[in-house]
Amino acid sequence: MSTATTTTTEQQKKKLCEICKVSRPILKRPKTGESICKECFYTVFEDEIHHTIVDNQLFKRGDKVAIGASGGKDSTVLAEIMTKLNKKYDYGLDLFLLSIDEGITGYRDDSLETVKRNQEQYQIPLKILSYKELYNWTMDEIVKEIGLKNNCTFCGVFRRQALDRGAIILGANKIVTGHNADDIAETVLINLLRGDIPRLQRCVNIVTGSEGALPRSKPFKYTYQKEIVMYAYFKKLDYFSTECIYAPNAYRGHVRDFLKDLEAIRPSIIIDIIHSGENFHFNEEFKMPVQGTCIQCGYISSNQLCMACELLKNLNSGLAKVKLSLHNKKLKSTNPQHQLDENNNQNNNNLEIKI
Ligand code: SF4
Ligand SMILES: [Zn+2]
Ligand SMILES: [Zn+2]
Repeated sequence: MSTATTTTTEQQKKKLCEICKVSRPILKRPKTGESICKECFYTVFEDEIHHTIVDNQLFKRGDKVAIGASGGKDSTVLAEIMTKLNKKYDYGLDLFLLSIDEGITGYRDDSLETVKRNQEQYQIPLKILSYKELYNWTMDEIVKEIGLKNNCTFCGVFRRQALDRGAIILGANKIVTGHNADDIAETVLINLLRGDIPRLQRCVNIVTGSEGALPRSKPFKYTYQKEIVMYAYFKKLDYFSTECIYAPNAYRGHVRDFLKDLEAIRPSIIIDIIHSGENFHFNEEFKMPVQGTCIQCGYISSNQLCMACELLKNLNSGLAKVKLSLHNKKLKSTNPQHQLDENNNQNNNNLEIKI
C-alpha cells in the first residue's frame, strides 16, 4: 500500500467515533477528550451515572425519591436521567419532582412553568412548596426588607429546610439534587480557601443529611457541567436558563472562573480536585457539633433555635437588617455548626440554583 493510501485510510479512521468506530463523531467529550458520535455519548453519559448510583448504593428498591427540580438544565437532565435509568435498570423507585418557590418574580415563577411542563413530559408527580406557605415571606418581600446584601443567607437556609419539608409531605425517604462535578470541585476549593474544615470534610460526600434530615444524594457527582449542557442540548430538553435576579457577585463566581481557566489547560482538573477532597485526612480531634432539634419547629439544629427560626425571628421583629451583621459575626466566631450553616448558604449562591 502506498504512503498516500495509508494516510487517507488513517484519516478516515480518525474521522470515526472512537468508541463504536462506525459513526461519524460529532463532539469531543470534555471529560476524556474522545471524539465520539451522539449515540455513544448518550450511552457513556447515562452509563457513568448508572455506575455512580450502583457503586455508591444510592437507592434501594421501593425508595421514594424526591428530585429537587428548579427547571434549570442540571435538574432537568437529572429528571430525564432518573426516569430513564429507573426504567432501563428497573431500580424500582417512586420518583417525584419537588420544586421550591422562593417567591422571586420574573425568575422562579417562569422557571416553575418549565418544571410543570417537565411533570407532563416525564409523567412524575410534582409538588411545589413556597416560602410564603412555609415562612409567610417571599424572597421579594425579604429583599424589600433587608436589601440585596444578605438575601442569599436567608434564601439558602430557607431552601434547605423547604426541600426536607416538601420531601416529607410527598412521603419521600430520599432527595436527589443536580449538583455536578464542577459544583463539587468549586466547593472543595471554596472551603479550602476559607479554611472551613467541617464543610471541607463533608462537601465531597455523595450522600449528605443522613444524620438527621432526609439523605440527599448527588448522582452527578462525577458528571461534568459541559456534558450536562451537551446532553440537554442534543436531547432538546425543555429547561430554563435565566439567572436569579438577586444573584450576587459571589465569591463562588471567582472560584468558578479560576477553575475554568485551569480546566482549559488540564481537563481532568475537576475530577482531580474531587479525588483530592476525597483523600484528605482530617485531624480526628476536631469535634463536630452535637445535633438536637429546634425548640420551635422541630428541625435538626445544634442550638435551641434552628437557623431558619432564628432568621425568621429577626425578620418578623423588623430587626433583620440590624441583627444580621451582628449575627454573622457571631456565626464566624465560635459555633462550628453555625459556620457550617453559613457556608451552606454561601454555597447556595450558584448562578444556576440547584434546589
Ligand atoms: S441567588 Fe439563589 S440563594 Fe440568592 S436569592 Fe436568588 S435563588 Fe436565592
Ligand atoms: Zn459511536
Ligand atoms: Zn426551627
